[in-house]
Amino acid sequence: MFNLTLSELSQALSQGQFSSLELTQALLERIKRLDSQYNSFITLSEEQALLQAKAADASRAAGHATPLTGLPVAHKDLFCIQGIRTSCGSRMLDNFVSPYNATLVERLNQAGMVTLGKTNMDEFAMGSSNESSYYGPARNPWDAQRVPGGSSGGSAAAVAARLVPAATGSDTGGSIRQPAALCGITGLKPTYGRISRYGMIAYASSFDQAGPMTRSAEDAALLLQAMAGEDPLDSTCAVHPVPDYRASLNNSLSGLRIGLPKEYFAEGTDPEILQRVREAVAEFEKMGAQVKEVSLPNTQLSIPAYYILAPAEASSNLSRFDGVRYGHRCAAPKDLEDLYKRTREEGFGTEVKRRIMVGTYALSEGFYDAYYRKAQQIRRLIQQDFVRVLQDVDVIMAPVTPCAAFPLGEKNSDPVSMYMEDVFTLSLNLAGLPGMSIPCGFSGHLPVGLQLIGNYFDEARLLNIAHQYQQVTDWHQHTPANLSED
Ligand code: GLN
Repeated sequence: MFNLTLSELSQALSQGQFSSLELTQALLERIKRLDSQYNSFITLSEEQALLQAKAADASRAAGHATPLTGLPVAHKDLFCIQGIRTSCGSRMLDNFVSPYNATLVERLNQAGMVTLGKTNMDEFAMGSSNESSYYGPARNPWDAQRVPGGSSGGSAAAVAARLVPAATGSDTGGSIRQPAALCGITGLKPTYGRISRYGMIAYASSFDQAGPMTRSAEDAALLLQAMAGEDPLDSTCAVHPVPDYRASLNNSLSGLRIGLPKEYFAEGTDPEILQRVREAVAEFEKMGAQVKEVSLPNTQLSIPAYYILAPAEASSNLSRFDGVRYGHRCAAPKDLEDLYKRTREEGFGTEVKRRIMVGTYALSEGFYDAYYRKAQQIRRLIQQDFVRVLQDVDVIMAPVTPCAAFPLGEKNSDPVSMYMEDVFTLSLNLAGLPGMSIPCGFSGHLPVGLQLIGNYFDEARLLNIAHQYQQVTDWHQHTPANLSED
């Protein structure tokens, strides 16, 4: 039962092979038994899960089942869930119990899903290794001495370790795609605004986007269907029709135009990864796709632009954590200034403080034009590169990461080498475009991801491309060798 996808589990439930309650209990038991190895969960919501599972079984018995009724899911710990701690991986929110549900949580609840708990993440989603979490790093199920990626590292590890069939993540600069690649699962970062951000704790509001992390493209389609769509509670959420994502999964790829950006295949990337990506592209050619080289000349400016803009937005978003309204408060403050200073000193970790300082500096008078405005101009250039290329091709294919999962501690003391992890992912967030990571083979014993980049609101096509690839390859079905199968 642990190896089944959402789609397979849905079928098993409707055939009465087991109930949602049995499935939920079995997974909760498995998490309690095995998660000390992975540290992928911060909080288990056992009581709520059992209630949801019973309710799901009842509505199935009454003939009201949706395709997601009774299926287990875990949420990255930045989605607010009423009555459950929502920590954002930070000491600052270690004691924060949300009084309301994020829209995404509400929608999956409405669809009948069962929430098993909240997954580990880099503090305030800042990081690429899950090592900045206040709760300690999550570990990669393919090799527990290595990182699962970040910031949605707990979600990726939990899905890869078969502790839950699917999870939610958020992607500000790569945080769904990069951990999906490093843990050998399927991750989708939709177009900016496709899914409501209401109740998702903000990092950089003009970049943040939620999305599904699953074992197959078909499952990602199933989840996106329930997650996507306009929301009166989030004015940046797109008013754009939501297509039937599963209806187009089996469309033929004959004539598909694939672009390979030459800047993404340059030196500096593990040659094994480039080789796996080329092999994947060759699979698509066999299915009738046409390949051509394209150029995204401003790619190398992505990292410097992102690391001005995202910290600038973060410094503003994180000013609300002041010890007054909610979250951590220092003991016995002398006066208001002391309250602010010590609360933030104690509540935030090193990486979060670094970002707040960089962002505040970039926004300060005298530096605004030199840094923030320039970075915004570069953001536009990067977006125009993509818009131009996507007039000639249907999809861009590229690596997700420059290297496979790296050892814990390797990049932690060197922020710039950690920031380089996002070199292939964050340009999409600058442009607001959708992207996917799907497993396409191995470098040694570690999974490699293939990145698919599409046009605005073209998630259906990305899912179609990914699903067709998963019909002719089985990389997405590989499981870590040492995984407990019972
Ligand atoms: N690694 C990037 C950062 O640290 C992206 C994180 C994310 O997408 N949330 O900002």
